[in-house]
Amino acid sequence: MRYSVIADAYEKIEATIKRLEMTDLLVDLLKNTPKEIIDKVVYLTQGRIYPDFVSLEIGVAEKLAIKALAKASGCKETEIEEDLPKTGDIGESSQKFMTSKKQVTLMPQKALTVERVYETLDKMAKASGSGAVDLKTALLAGLLADATPKEAKYIMRTVTGNLRLGIADMTVLDALAIAYGGGKETREFIERAYNISSDLGRVAKTVVEKGLSGIKKFQVLVGEPIRPMLAERLSSPEEILEKLGGKCIAEYKYDGERIQIHKRNNEVTLFSRRLEDISSQYPDAIELVKNHVKARDAILEAECVAIDTETGEMRPFQELMHRRRKYEIRKAIEEYPVSLFMFDALYFDGKDLTLEPYPIRHHALKKAISESDRMKTAKYIITSDPKELENFFQEAIEDGCEGLVCKSMAEDSVYQAGARGWLWIKYKRDYKSEMTDTVDLVVVGAFHGRGKRTGTYGALLLAAYNQDKDVFETVTKCGTGFTDEDLARLPKMLQKYKIGHKHSRVQSIIEANVWFEPAIVIEILGAEITLSPIHVCAVDVIRKGSGLAIRFPRFTGNYRLDKAAEDATTANEILEMYQKQLKRIS
Ligand code: ATP
Repeated sequence: MRYSVIADAYEKIEATIKRLEMTDLLVDLLKNTPKEIIDKVVYLTQGRIYPDFVSLEIGVAEKLAIKALAKASGCKETEIEEDLPKTGDIGESSQKFMTSKKQVTLMPQKALTVERVYETLDKMAKASGSGAVDLKTALLAGLLADATPKEAKYIMRTVTGNLRLGIADMTVLDALAIAYGGGKETREFIERAYNISSDLGRVAKTVVEKGLSGIKKFQVLVGEPIRPMLAERLSSPEEILEKLGGKCIAEYKYDGERIQIHKRNNEVTLFSRRLEDISSQYPDAIELVKNHVKARDAILEAECVAIDTETGEMRPFQELMHRRRKYEIRKAIEEYPVSLFMFDALYFDGKDLTLEPYPIRHHALKKAISESDRMKTAKYIITSDPKELENFFQEAIEDGCEGLVCKSMAEDSVYQAGARGWLWIKYKRDYKSEMTDTVDLVVVGAFHGRGKRTGTYGALLLAAYNQDKDVFETVTKCGTGFTDEDLARLPKMLQKYKIGHKHSRVQSIIEANVWFEPAIVIEILGAEITLSPIHVCAVDVIRKGSGLAIRFPRFTGNYRLDKAAEDATTANEILEMYQKQLKRIS
């Protein structure tokens, strides 16, 4: 196929902003494309040569482009550099310089084909190592030398990542439906294929070669990310249960990064919510998959959460951001290791599960993994009782989660790839109370440390002072912010207050390993104050059965030795902080 056919089509597409017209032009182009290269033409119209999830780029920087253009056109690099700010587009400049060259030399000997352009771009993308820049320059100059000025414009825009024809994925799907599916109404089948593969090229090839019946049998493939299913939102357990037919599987909504795990034999790839390959950010998660996924081949979904190594508690989402920086990954793996909370199975040993109802996928998920401390299925209950759902929600918040995802168990509860629908409903708090101020809390108990903290305390149980009742009410458990010196100092400091049972003035539902007489006060900064079923600070005031708790507490390093236990922040003050800072979450 001549590349000029593509260049002509691009020119017309560029000239329109009407989606219908654009679709018609695309339909013409696809109909004129030989079957064998339909996938390549589809990628090219998107300004790419592979599907989006393949991270390989053609990667031509401006400098390299100028060099290649100079070589092909016989102009000086400085001339091109001077022209570029005027056109603002390397494509325009290429067309201009190649036109002036063509006026003094003979026309190109052989017409450029799409196959040759594609192959050359492919070689450029794969070029690596020390000779890569020279090789890419030579390959690009070779293409330009045989291109017409118009072709040169589009080749240059493609290799520099500036094609931008404005053809949305959905327009390609429309065009495929019209050209090869038998009409626009067949779009839904083609779209589903796209949603479970994210690969427009494979979808195009299937519909062209196998028609509509082929596309209806389209299956997921390990290695091709499935577009994620998303949740709608409601704000009461009653509404949620009603919408889900009276009964649901309610799961913790963990606050981490969504990860789609693809495993074939011992090869593992991790994709982000935006379908990028993020395997290199999570070598520890890959190890977990290798050790705990029993299935030979699988596509599973999980929320990846940073864990506090000392207390085993979940850390806020932000702490995963260290993984974004290449040079910090090694450190992040040590300081913020991750746990995987598994919540769906889309493929399991040869079987595409995307059209199976959730109870079957959930069952497959449990079969696919061997649970460990660091890899578990998301905590869940099956319920039809709004009260039970509400309690489970409170428990999720207390455990450091964002809330719940309530999932349909009905016959039709398939995996709706790429869609936000009512089969999943998230239940999050409408209000959030952010802490800006520190609080001074009394140490009333402690928990033995594990790992590096064996022999000292892993976390302290802290309480606020209730003036009216003259008691100390637990409000949080804190294991973060302590230096090695603090850890060595604490047992000594607390030794003389150690008692064999909970102190009579301490109110606590939680059972500590060690109890103390309320005496030592330390300064704490938390992320927010939440309602809690397990802490008893200001219990029953806001809601019956709930106290207040401080989430994500961190020791600031200040021992308030100047304060007696009764000088600690009071339960009333915490209640006021909760009410004052209450902010509607958008
Ligand atoms: P949000 O900001 O609420 O996370 P979102 O648009 O990213 O919104 P939603 O569809 O609203 O996504 O919520 C689903 C998200 O919740 C998933 O993308 C996933 O990352 C996360 N999640 C955590 N736990 C679960 C779970 N058990 N099941 C499904 N999703 C979960």
